[in-house]
Amino acid sequence: MNADGRRDGMKALSRRQFFGALAAGSWAAWSSCSSDQQRRRIPGRIVNEGPPRGHLLRDVHSWEDFDAADHACDVAIVGGGISGLAAAWKLRRSGVERILLLDLEDQLGGTSRSGQWGDQIFPWGAHYINIPPAEADCIHEILQDLGVIDGYDAANKPLVAAGTMLRWPHERLFYRGRWTDGLDPFIDASSREREALLRFEDAMLRWTLHRGRDGRRAFAMPLRYSTADSRVRRLDQISMAQYLREEGWHDDRLRWLVDYACRDDYGSTAAQVSAWAGIHYYACRFYDYRIEEAYPAHTLTWPEGNGHLVTQLANRLGKNEIKRQALVARLAEERSQVRLGYIDLTTGEKRQLTARAVVYAGKLHTAPYAIVDLPDAQAKAMAAIEYSPWLVAAIFLKEPLAASQTTWDNVLYDSPSLGYVVADHQQGGGGRVLLYYWPFVDQLADARHALLAQDHSFWTEQIMADLRRVHPELDDLVERVDLYRWGHGMMRPSPGLLWGPMAGWRQQPMERIFFASCDATGLPLCEEAIFSGILAAEQAMDCLGVAYPSSLGGLADA
Ligand SMILES: Cc1cc2nc3c(=O)[nH]c(=O)nc-3n(C[C@H](O)[C@H](O)[C@H](O)COP(=O)(O)OP(=O)(O)OC[C@H]3O[C@@H](n4cnc5c(N)ncnc54)[C@H](O)[C@@H]3O)c2cc1C
Repeated sequence: MNADGRRDGMKALSRRQFFGALAAGSWAAWSSCSSDQQRRRIPGRIVNEGPPRGHLLRDVHSWEDFDAADHACDVAIVGGGISGLAAAWKLRRSGVERILLLDLEDQLGGTSRSGQWGDQIFPWGAHYINIPPAEADCIHEILQDLGVIDGYDAANKPLVAAGTMLRWPHERLFYRGRWTDGLDPFIDASSREREALLRFEDAMLRWTLHRGRDGRRAFAMPLRYSTADSRVRRLDQISMAQYLREEGWHDDRLRWLVDYACRDDYGSTAAQVSAWAGIHYYACRFYDYRIEEAYPAHTLTWPEGNGHLVTQLANRLGKNEIKRQALVARLAEERSQVRLGYIDLTTGEKRQLTARAVVYAGKLHTAPYAIVDLPDAQAKAMAAIEYSPWLVAAIFLKEPLAASQTTWDNVLYDSPSLGYVVADHQQGGGGRVLLYYWPFVDQLADARHALLAQDHSFWTEQIMADLRRVHPELDDLVERVDLYRWGHGMMRPSPGLLWGPMAGWRQQPMERIFFASCDATGLPLCEEAIFSGILAAEQAMDCLGVAYPSSLGGLADA
């Protein structure tokens, strides 16, 4: 037996059995099968301990429960994640005065929020974006305004602010008992075996350069700018795994690589997402080195991850324009306004306000609980969205890892997790704060239940068991582990979801309520959240009769 008895136990169980056992509360019986030695309890906490605040939406609220309206604004924004903040940015930039943004949490950012340990800031969710492709007009505009893009060179390529571009070395892979540079499981493959990888890379390069019959890129950013050509869109009807099979790519390492990409971007396996979504990862964001000049694909990141963008955007609003710990529980369109009921979570009071328009930027599966008279078909489309839960651990060390030099992203081949990102990498810190990312891809309801039911020690031990085999010295170095549970972390772009009939319903505006959130377009990416927020803001301004220069030129004829 190796030093890691529990790990062997986890391998012996299928994921289904694992979560089944957790959900049934029979973890004790399961763990007694393993011969784990007594270990010290690692200090730390679950940062978002307790029942999720959003569950309060499940209680039926009627207008009689709320005090009379005591506030009126032009646009109320429900949710201060990236999409809600991008909506606020566009409204403010266009001169809208009376904005109110409400968020149920005590900190803004949603899945892009950040944390702090001493002087060290770090992401709890989203940690990077990429240099936007040329067509992504709205992303260029917002990044320029926030000072992330400094200007453009003679070839019109973006120049980014100092310290923003991901520092070298970028990534490494723990494969067959050792670290290898880059993300290359073909490291010891024969040239014949490597052939599969090269053919796959060629195909992704062709998709990168492909344009549909309407002249649009096959896979664009934002995705709404992509071609409507049915020969490309039909890739949304099959899974990424089926696409690989149809193309004759059966090599295990290649399938792992593609699976990793899908887990990284969508918290899902290649069998669970559409081929359109799977190819988008390569053909729109992670370009091939052969076209690096025309399509720079550098990763942009900050010590606090995309929390950097959250802070910059939140600074555009005044103190009185943001209400934290305010759960919006009821919304109803009336003739010339929207009535909005919210619960002040600091006092429990139920209050009301009115807005001339509302941008709904919360996760869309919650909209049917809050919005009165949401059309049935729309409510059904929103309620049907599947989300993968995630567990993120911030592992604080007394001193950096002694093993070979860490990179920013440290990926484990044989793990249900994605491995860890080094939070202080951009500052040259060398690895005192590690962020471990674990997407739960199967048995979503059971996994979500287990995430809530099991305590800090339980999850910390799972994580340590995964990392110990890579870093045997870890137990001596760990000072503390904090955890963040994302019950509905990422929307899953399953086959048919991006371009099928449900997509229209997710984006369909009401008379005065407009939907932001990356769920509206369907890919859980910050860029999609920015696009959807700006689109909802522009729709709200159309409704209010406010003139503005559109940031979404790419939508013309889309
Ligand atoms: C672990 C993890 C890692 C990720 N990594 C990356 C990455 O590296 N790069 C990337 O591009 N994307 C990443 N993503 C996805 C990215 O975080 C999202 O695409 C993006 O931040 C979504 O923004 P949003 O505004 O659409 O939604 P959210 O982030 O979900 O924000 C919604 C906000 O609305 C609030 N809210 C909801 N309902 C209500 C209500 N009724 N009343 C008041 N407030 C409400 C919530 O509190 C929340 O703040 C990651 C996601 C996760 C979970």
